[in-house]
Amino acid sequence: MNQFASVNDFSGVISADRAHVWHHLTQHKPLETTDPRVMVEGRGMRLWDASGREHLDAVSGGVWTVNVGYGRDSIGEAIRDQVTRLNFFAGSAGSVPGALFAQKLIERMPGMSRVYSVNSGSEANEKAFKLVRQIAHKHHGGKKHKILFRERDYHGSTIATMSAGGQPERNAQYGPYTPGFVQVPHCLEYRAQWDVENYGERAADAIEDVILREGPDTIGALCLETVTAGGGVITPPKGYWERVQEICRRYDILLHLDEVVCGVGRTGEWFGYQHYGIQPDLVTMAKGVASGYAAIACLVTTEKVFDMFKDDSDPMSLFRDISTYGGCTAGPAAALENMRIIEDEGLLENTKAMGARLMQNLGALQERHAVIGDVRGLGLFCGAELVADRESRAPVDEKMVQAVIADCMAQGVIIGATARAIPGFNNTLCLAPALIATADDIDSITEAMDGALSRVFG
Ligand code: PLP
Repeated sequence: MNQFASVNDFSGVISADRAHVWHHLTQHKPLETTDPRVMVEGRGMRLWDASGREHLDAVSGGVWTVNVGYGRDSIGEAIRDQVTRLNFFAGSAGSVPGALFAQKLIERMPGMSRVYSVNSGSEANEKAFKLVRQIAHKHHGGKKHKILFRERDYHGSTIATMSAGGQPERNAQYGPYTPGFVQVPHCLEYRAQWDVENYGERAADAIEDVILREGPDTIGALCLETVTAGGGVITPPKGYWERVQEICRRYDILLHLDEVVCGVGRTGEWFGYQHYGIQPDLVTMAKGVASGYAAIACLVTTEKVFDMFKDDSDPMSLFRDISTYGGCTAGPAAALENMRIIEDEGLLENTKAMGARLMQNLGALQERHAVIGDVRGLGLFCGAELVADRESRAPVDEKMVQAVIADCMAQGVIIGATARAIPGFNNTLCLAPALIATADDIDSITEAMDGALSRVFG
């Protein structure tokens, strides 16, 4: 039994869960015969479940979220101190942690200026889409209303964010979708669509091709994940981002970067785009903002975008939007303390160092296991793509990917995989340990993978 649990018998919890909980993204049938996984407690990189099993978590809460690790008393205290003083007031007014968090965040995002607080990554992206639509109405006679999104990117689970979703396997059963969203090609060089030397620039030019086809005066924004997460851990090829920015500027298209996964230290910089020296107009972030200690997500804009809503002569000029729980103070209180921890504990530096070690270990695994076709990553955000044949790059069957994950789980290590059911993209093992990972943690993760790959593929 785990050493932290105050309750030692979870049989009632497990039966309550089985009877009444609808788990996210989970098939019902297997839960009729096996116990649902119920997590009880966490400390640092480790978790204990209701059966008393210990897990080393290599994906930060399963979905790249718990950046500063589990069991942070100081975040709990910051939340308690704030909510007992003032838990909520509508976001039409400010709050003490809201103002201090916005200031601290903007100090780490040169060129950005305004923070709009909401609850989830999907919601932050929805707000960005609404801003773009309102700008089209206010400043472009309704014309620049289209939003470009990229094949393999994901921006959320609501109907509008799924309209901007580049993973058809997720979208298949939920249409019809919102009009005005147009897809551009992905930029994964390992699954190259163009046989050229300067792949990054070519992949960016493919966006320009779509812009010219649709008409630049119809397009308001380009919304991209800086590094694609669930769609395949796609790190941008060299030269890509610089060219993308140039194209957006040429056609007066707002650059909206979805940093829901790669924001707040995950890649070793505060934000993923800061590796490339580019300046977005809109940035959305969620998961790592408060490491899952409270539900907070943000849309951050430049002052130029903010100013587009400033017109006292027009009563309709304001951004006519609200999010009730965007006024909860627990979120910014947790986010402020989360940022303090990242800074004071040198977690950006640790992420760079441990990310390099993880990539090195994955490279060594690639040498030992022919099934690893490609390894890619930035900071503590890495993937290993599994192929049946290195020559043809044919992906392995998804069942084999799941078998590797299950084997690691049996060894007490939680790893993940990219979105399911699309050959060529569902075959990437995902690793995103907390930014506090030590060299021993990283080595334990890749050792478990080594054993699992040997057992599953021989
Ligand atoms: N954007 C990206 C890149 C994501 O990975 C996710 C969630 O995984 C979202 C947006 C949606 O965030 P949320 O689940 O908080 O709505």
